[in-house]
Amino acid sequence: MENSPARQPSARLDAFVDRYAARTAGMTASEIRALFAVASRPEVVSLAGGMPNISGLPLDVVGGAISDLIAKQGPVAMQYGSGQGVPELREQITDVMRLEGIEAHPDDVVVTVGSQQAVDLVTRVFCDPGDVVICEAPSYVGALGVFKAYQCEVVHAEMDADGLVPEALRQAIRAVKAAGRTIKFLYTIPNFHNPAGVSMSTPRRAEVLDICRSEGILILEDNPYGLLGFDAEPMRALRADSADNVIYLGSFSKTFAPGFRVGWALAPAPVREKLVLAQESATLCPPQFSQMAISAYLANHDWQGQIKQFREMYRERRDAMVDALSDLMPAACRWNVPDGGFYVWLTLPPGVNAKSMLPRAVTARVAFVPGTAFFADGYGTGAMRLSFCYPTPERIREGVRRLAGVVEAEMELRETFGATGPDPELGSRGYDGPRSDLS
Ligand code: PMP
Repeated sequence: MENSPARQPSARLDAFVDRYAARTAGMTASEIRALFAVASRPEVVSLAGGMPNISGLPLDVVGGAISDLIAKQGPVAMQYGSGQGVPELREQITDVMRLEGIEAHPDDVVVTVGSQQAVDLVTRVFCDPGDVVICEAPSYVGALGVFKAYQCEVVHAEMDADGLVPEALRQAIRAVKAAGRTIKFLYTIPNFHNPAGVSMSTPRRAEVLDICRSEGILILEDNPYGLLGFDAEPMRALRADSADNVIYLGSFSKTFAPGFRVGWALAPAPVREKLVLAQESATLCPPQFSQMAISAYLANHDWQGQIKQFREMYRERRDAMVDALSDLMPAACRWNVPDGGFYVWLTLPPGVNAKSMLPRAVTARVAFVPGTAFFADGYGTGAMRLSFCYPTPERIREGVRRLAGVVEAEMELRETFGATGPDPELGSRGYDGPRSDLS
């Protein structure tokens, strides 16, 4: 059976390829995908993926909640449900958002298949081909992929250690308007940014809200990491201070587990209605079983205590990474020290190209994501994202040790042959954090 012709993967057929919709031109596999197959081998320390580390979840408690769910509400849990999501869960989601200052009604919550689907639905509802979405520089690769698939044009606005720079936002808006193009929304990740690791400061939040309000720009606030701060209370969401021009996205992927694929959008009523229609056409309804399992977990388990444990675990890994970087990385590298989330953004010495270095790094058994993945415009060659969420502290240190060796070798190559990047200027844009030992 295993080897019968019917069981083989289909041959590469070129038939129909010429009939794909124009939008598929933007749906391309990442150039680094092949390398990641190698990077997932056990001997490679992967500082590349952003997989939440769910090893601390009490599987017995989750298992108990799920078997209880089947026993007591199986026929409902295994049925189709509402396109907007399970009402009890939407109510509980409003409790989760209250931790970030948001007072919302459950009717304004739309449950989605992860917040990734929420990004997709919002873009589907708002964007025609050629519309502009303003994104931070750098920005989340999965959102850039959605914007590309809907044939949007991404215009980046710079960040610094306090997040999105208001003047850069103003400039981007001016430039797009001067070109006669339509801005559909600003996509921002205000907390523990993926990939930059920074958070938007409180004064910046007020300023960004002011700019968008006065320019009539909708904000898409993507916040999967907001409750994963290491030191302070969660920051106040943009949505908490502006209910009518912010769509807020949340997720249980990082605070509970990504396998349930449950996220949500909180949107003003007319937008919310369109999102529900878009959700129904995409999936009929988000998975009822996952929603009810999460609802039972939230109702019967100390989920805030669990998040606290996650934060402690991620803080220990952050410390392992920044200590290793300070001890081992060549002095010409720079990076930021994140106060939460999963990521450090590292800027290489001028002229060293992260993307061309990646195969050599994988040979040295360490992987990262080159900065170019996080820009729609070719920038980022001189930077990389390092994730500290998944490996153990010991593996993180070992990964950084290997990476430091590769960077040193690249620097020597550069001394001998000149820049290893196509354009060192392109590498220097984006957030260039302070060296950890100076901050
Ligand atoms: N937004 C950001 C910024 C992310 O980092 C991720 C996951 N890496 C997502 C959205 C999607 O997460 P999910 O679909 O699992 O909720």
